[in-house]
Amino acid sequence: MSLPDFAALPAVDPSLSWNNSFAALGPTFYTRLAPQPLPAPYLVAASPDAAAALGLDTGWLQSDAALQLLSGNALPQGGDPLASVYSGHQFGVWAGQLGDGRALLLGEIDTPQGPMELQLKGSGLTPYSRMGDGRAVLRSSIREFLASEAMHALGVPTTRALALVGSPLRVRRETMETTAVVTRAAASFLRFGHFEHFAAAGDHAALRQLADYVIARHYPECQAGAALGNPYADFLQAVSERTAALVAQWQSIGFCHGVLNTDNMSILGLTIDYGPFQFLDAYVPNHVCNHSDHRGRYAFDRQPNVALWNLYCLGQALQPLIGAPERVVEALDAYKPAFPRELIARMRAKLGLLAPHADENALIDGILRLLADNAVDTTIFWRRLAHAVAADHYEPVRDLFADRAAFDAWLLSYMELLCQSDKALAADLMLKTNPAYVLRNYLAEQAIRQAGAGDFSEIHRLQALLAHPFEERPGDEAYALPPPDWAAHLSISCSS
Ligand code: AMP
Ligand code: MG
Repeated sequence: MSLPDFAALPAVDPSLSWNNSFAALGPTFYTRLAPQPLPAPYLVAASPDAAAALGLDTGWLQSDAALQLLSGNALPQGGDPLASVYSGHQFGVWAGQLGDGRALLLGEIDTPQGPMELQLKGSGLTPYSRMGDGRAVLRSSIREFLASEAMHALGVPTTRALALVGSPLRVRRETMETTAVVTRAAASFLRFGHFEHFAAAGDHAALRQLADYVIARHYPECQAGAALGNPYADFLQAVSERTAALVAQWQSIGFCHGVLNTDNMSILGLTIDYGPFQFLDAYVPNHVCNHSDHRGRYAFDRQPNVALWNLYCLGQALQPLIGAPERVVEALDAYKPAFPRELIARMRAKLGLLAPHADENALIDGILRLLADNAVDTTIFWRRLAHAVAADHYEPVRDLFADRAAFDAWLLSYMELLCQSDKALAADLMLKTNPAYVLRNYLAEQAIRQAGAGDFSEIHRLQALLAHPFEERPGDEAYALPPPDWAAHLSISCSS
């Protein structure tokens, strides 16, 4: 493996002040290295929303200087690029050392929301590439780019995607495919697996250093250990609560992650590492979107339990810092009330209920069972229900159910609760909670196929649409439809 040295690359200064606080932790945590140059890079898409959030000039994103930086062909001045080391449990089994096998942390920049890390994904070999080539294909990069920004617009915590740069460089997956680099942004890219790595190595000094770093920067409220008498226990409890809130959002919008290994779990409770993810079309609770997941470990309805299983791995890793195992369990137990609390709050909003109600659980369970029994399209149902409440006309929703009598019975009990709310306020809340558009697999697939022919207009169109998922756009009605026949059994490759 030959890695280019820093001196070989020109430095680019987009008038940003770069820093890298993670680098200051020392080389136990990473390997410093430069990206591998990407031949003949071209900008496929950039996110103006992400740029604005980062305080970057959108015009600069279109510049050649930006292209060089975002393809890994130039280095940020004052940045300190590195690949971090982590380990993890994959499909329930300890996988040992993994690490940033194709990602590189460029450094962090000051933004209106505080320091944000920028990371290139697909920027070449690192010491953690194992058998991989360090690259990402354009196909999966389009999915990650669009999904990251779509999730953000839906209000779901996620890593952001600033830019997508393509290259004629080809790598082998099932077939030969062209490659790309996605520039991701997050306050931190640390995963549960980073902590597991140092715990498994028995390096408790490094484990403590890492935990202290994350607590000081991202969980300062845990420093005093006020809740459970220990800062690391408070930290674990806070991560458990954030993770519960994240998974509740996934379940409420029908998002299936697909690869919930502990190395794909963000310590900040962000959605991270978009692979074979899927937004549900028909509401199929046990849907498995990852075709390599033969046992359905990461089925949609297993996500809440798997997230807790992953938190137990994090808890085990933090145990040397927390001490008493009972305190670890106590911290993790925060997940159990937090998840249903967060989920019910989300579902309440989807139903337009403005206050908690004794009968709400039965109402929520009832509609989810009906959606599953009638294989109703998830997104269409909720959006139509919002419009139905706004117009006080329920026929279009009723039409979605084969079992009309069962729906009518549910509707009756729903109306009873809804009557207690202000209808206009309820409809308004529902229209802001139930999106008209999500990144269905077939929509991404259409954009990918066109991009393969050199036409990126569909990517840009989806970007614009999904940036405002709660606003119907005249002329874009087709994007809110269920998958067409050709895509009914679309198989998304898990290779990326
Ligand atoms: P993922 O399944 O994408 O979350 O990746 C799991 C591990 O495999 C991580 O350590 C990745 O960095 C690594 N990996 C995935 N794809 C590649 C690749 N093409 N080259 C090098 N490492 C990779
Ligand atoms: Mg990963």
